[in-house]
Amino acid sequence: MACALITAQDLRSVLSRVAQKIAEQESYLNSLDAAVGDGDHGITMRLGFQAIVRKLGELDLQASVDVIWREAGMAFMNASGGAIGVILGKMFMAGGTTLRGAQQLGAPEFRNMLSAMETAIAKAGRAKPGDKTILDAVHGANSALAGLNATSDDLALLVSRAAQAANRAAQDTADMVCRVGRASRLGDRTLGCPDPGAVSFSIILREMAAWLAERQANLGAAPTGTND
Ligand SMILES: [Mg+2]
Repeated sequence: MACALITAQDLRSVLSRVAQKIAEQESYLNSLDAAVGDGDHGITMRLGFQAIVRKLGELDLQASVDVIWREAGMAFMNASGGAIGVILGKMFMAGGTTLRGAQQLGAPEFRNMLSAMETAIAKAGRAKPGDKTILDAVHGANSALAGLNATSDDLALLVSRAAQAANRAAQDTADMVCRVGRASRLGDRTLGCPDPGAVSFSIILREMAAWLAERQANLGAAPTGTND
């Protein structure tokens, strides 16, 4: 089904949507970070995604999906300070690298990308699942996909399952104590609030899923013959 693919053009629109939604959640993300850190996670995320949107405007119109993800990662890393800038930046770049040569992002590409993202984060942050970091959300998403039929080629379904699992995993980090990063010094005081990075990652997947679902709904609503 052609609509279950994300082309380079689509990816631009997906990332712009994520940027907008992240900006809308800025205060909420700041408040989560204030519970365990310096309260700037929402600002960092907004600045990083604004830089991604600027980069999209500078990229060649022919830029492929892998180039877009990698350039987005680099733009995010350059624009946002702190650990999350490096971690999310490396994660996007690693995901983009797996797409080299791909014309579009389909179900197998999404699986590969998510898996490479988890590896990249584990390396960059030296965290393990359960340490109350962004890794928990990424690991949750990957685990959910591993439980789905490997031949499932419905990208919209895959992204939506991954997004649900990432959200559950992010919420579950509220019951965890920070074990890596600056907040680990706070010990039990980090209980009760979800990890801001994990929540941000779940927002990224949620908006990707919402974009795909909306497009499917639009295609379904279009009069026969008008959707090429
Ligand atoms: Mg912070």
